[in-house]
Amino acid sequence: TSRPQIAGPMQDRFAEGDLIAVLTTQPLDRTLDYRAPAGGCGTGDFVEVPLGPRKVMGVVWGEGEGGYDLSKVRPVFRVLDVPSMRAEMQTFLTRAAEYTLTPMPAMLRLATRAPGLGQDVSLRKVYARGPSDPDRMTEPRQRVLDVLAEYGGLAFTLKELAEMAGVGTSVVKGLVKQGAVDERQAPRDTPYPHLDPDMAGKPLAPDQAEAAAALSRAAQSRRYGTTMLRGVTGSGKTEVYLEAVAACLKAGRQALVLLPEIALTSEFLSRVEARFGAKPAEWHHGVTQTERRRCWKMAAEDGAQLVVGARSSLFLPFRDLGLIVVDEEHDTSYKQEDGVLYSARDMAVLRASITGAQVVLASATPSLETWANVEAGKYAALTLTSRFGDRAMPGMRAIDMRTEDLPGGRWVSPSLQAQIADRLERGEQSLLFLNRRGYAPVTICRACGEMVGCDQCDARMVEHRFLKRLVCHQCGETKPMPEACPSCKVEGKLAPVGPGVERMAEEAAALFPDARVEVLSSDMYASARALKARIEAIAEGAADIVVGTQLVAKGHNFPLLTLVGVIDADLGLQGSDLRAAERTFQLMRQVAGRAGRAERPGEAWLQTFQPEHHVIKAILSGDEDGFWRAEAAERKAAGVPPYGRMAGIVLSSPDIQAVFDLGNRLARVDGPLRRIGAQVFGPAPAPIARIRGRHRLRMLVKAEKGAPLQPALAAWLAQVPIKGDIRLSVDIDPQSF
Ligand code: ADP
Ligand code: ZN
Repeated sequence: TSRPQIAGPMQDRFAEGDLIAVLTTQPLDRTLDYRAPAGGCGTGDFVEVPLGPRKVMGVVWGEGEGGYDLSKVRPVFRVLDVPSMRAEMQTFLTRAAEYTLTPMPAMLRLATRAPGLGQDVSLRKVYARGPSDPDRMTEPRQRVLDVLAEYGGLAFTLKELAEMAGVGTSVVKGLVKQGAVDERQAPRDTPYPHLDPDMAGKPLAPDQAEAAAALSRAAQSRRYGTTMLRGVTGSGKTEVYLEAVAACLKAGRQALVLLPEIALTSEFLSRVEARFGAKPAEWHHGVTQTERRRCWKMAAEDGAQLVVGARSSLFLPFRDLGLIVVDEEHDTSYKQEDGVLYSARDMAVLRASITGAQVVLASATPSLETWANVEAGKYAALTLTSRFGDRAMPGMRAIDMRTEDLPGGRWVSPSLQAQIADRLERGEQSLLFLNRRGYAPVTICRACGEMVGCDQCDARMVEHRFLKRLVCHQCGETKPMPEACPSCKVEGKLAPVGPGVERMAEEAAALFPDARVEVLSSDMYASARALKARIEAIAEGAADIVVGTQLVAKGHNFPLLTLVGVIDADLGLQGSDLRAAERTFQLMRQVAGRAGRAERPGEAWLQTFQPEHHVIKAILSGDEDGFWRAEAAERKAAGVPPYGRMAGIVLSSPDIQAVFDLGNRLARVDGPLRRIGAQVFGPAPAPIARIRGRHRLRMLVKAEKGAPLQPALAAWLAQVPIKGDIRLSVDIDPQSF
């Protein structure tokens, strides 16, 4: 197909010896000057430059700055064989850095997460399947072959393969020697199979067709715009946005579909394949390094029409991106919580506004941020009103726990038990939902009352019976379950308090000894891949009762599942977080949506001690508009996002005095913030006051909606130098406040 030429900003060319500025991923606060190499170079070129005694990769950012002894400026070593960064990507990274107050090198790292980018491909060796000899199999060797069998078409590097199989590299080498594994030259990065947008999609229901037409028109406009696509789980949103993808591909532009990591399953890829005749490019944790590199390059070179990826795929170097779909846009995992703190939803909108692309924000329970933007006329809105094929939304009911007869240490009420028994009889699946990993959230000593805590964090250790260890959910530290209380040293008195998913599974197995009970929780699986494989098996009927954390709430179909039992619907409502109501509402509606997605109708039963609570009532009635109106009114009154602006500043150090000193100094020099009418709160201990031995203080900055918050923050923070082992992170629009 032919495509129109894209007119971009002029990219400068530099002749040999010209002074150029290069941005590297090294932690420096500015670009460095170099001389252009023989043959010259242009803005956006990837180059290898000397930095002290090392060679590092960088991008030619523009003209050099000069203003110092120019005789010391060193030349670029070479221009790398990597597609140049487009001007709009430079703009995107710059604006994203300004928005999130992130140093540019960290932004560049996000944009170059393709292993071995500048390396010569012909030097790389990869490993794939060969003929195996059953007589010489050992268990580790078999594991390697299993990995290769599972990912038949793919080739891995030696390290990858060994890591995935959980064996040493010598095991792989042994297999190569016996011919069971082939060692080959790495293939050149090849384009992905062609997706055919002209293949016919499913015939759409009238409301789907209307929404699809609107999105398709927009996707072909070559203009920026954002649309909220709202509809209950199962209403056919995916079917609709795949039409927009088709329209975008027909216009010769690329498309990106973002999903929460856990929802990136083969089920979704198969749907794309059914619609377009081939699978899309993938970008997420489960993808091999070789594939990542291919995806990165093909996005830049137009060998990938559609990328399906996790949030970091927003930083891929698309040649001509026309559409970004953010599915489950309300999902909290879209907010990066370490390293660069960005919201994928906001970054999608930013990137699209720079490239002239459309954004579709799809959700059954859109975020209040998105609602507010629709209300303000910034986003368009499309709504699918019923479940496809008129399947009923699951009936939602409360179980009033105050009236249930339940002994201590048990959590499945008689009412819920009866429902589960009913499903077992009919050969249907039940999901028991509890958003708590492990066996018990607290381990207490019955002799002295001490609760076992983490040495490094201000957090309790959580018992994980499956791992036979105590685990800190903050720092990941684990230790064996002690015999004696760490505090009073009395033996045999440590007892679990409260339920986690493992304990729920134990209870379910005791109540229903003949049922197949399974726990779905991220820590139960060695890799995201293994977890997804298990989710797929369960969808096909490998379990009768599934006990799961919020993992199961996300975009997967369980056709046999007709009952959702929420063990503790009140859990998320505790605490003072202003987003608690929104989160609980979204999570409960989302989990309930897991029930009854196929031919069989579903039901969701919520165990609650406060059935009169306004959030629980809204969940049960499904009165979304009413809920959001009340929620919006509350946030408006408090002047918090999305009706006001906020930033969270976290200061941390092993030295508690040092963080307090810094926090207090910052609080005293708040002039730049006061000038824009912003207020500073704190410093106060952060919600988790110590992690990995570092004491943490938080300051919250609150400003009015239109206030220029970032420049004021930058000016404020620049006044006080950060010294020693203190770290400072800025979180614009924090998840909790
Ligand atoms: P959502 O994304 O809103 O959860 P989906 O697009 O996944 O909904 O649709 C729910 C189910 O209904 C899927 O199994 C899908 O294949 C099916 N479905 C949706 N629209 C149609 C259609 N127009 N024709 C046939 N099946 C459809
Ligand atoms: Zn810890």
